[in-house]
Amino acid sequence: MSDCLFCSIVAGDIPGDIVFENESVLAFRDIDPKAPTHILVIPKKHIRSINELESDDQSLAGEMLIAAKSIAKLEGIDDSGFRTVFNTNDDGGQTVFHIHMHILGGRQMTWPPG
Ligand code: AMP
Ligand code: ZN
Repeated sequence: MSDCLFCSIVAGDIPGDIVFENESVLAFRDIDPKAPTHILVIPKKHIRSINELESDDQSLAGEMLIAAKSIAKLEGIDDSGFRTVFNTNDDGGQTVFHIHMHILGGRQMTWPPG
């Protein structure tokens, strides 16, 4: 999608600090980190949010989670722990409308989230 920030990172038109990539998924560091480790995992395919996931996207959605496992290990936060978050639409706090999973780690998370 031409006017999508994260599609532009996938295309290489905007730089991203990429930490993981495979055929279907890309992960890069958040430009405004909210924790010592803050990484975004996205599908290379443009999907606006969880609301637009189709049943055909089942394996892609699973690949995002499997990527999170690999990234947590690469970043050394698998044992200490981490949080994964999908924000959706206004109440969820979504600001970039290309589905992404936040991986946050390197500090104690609090609950409930703000
Ligand atoms: P959300 O608010 O859940 O939609 O998350 C969007 C995230 O994208 C925010 O945490 C932003 O800091 C992050 N972000 C925005 N622009 C960029 C960029 N060019 N590179 C990396 N992360 C970005
Ligand atoms: Zn996109």
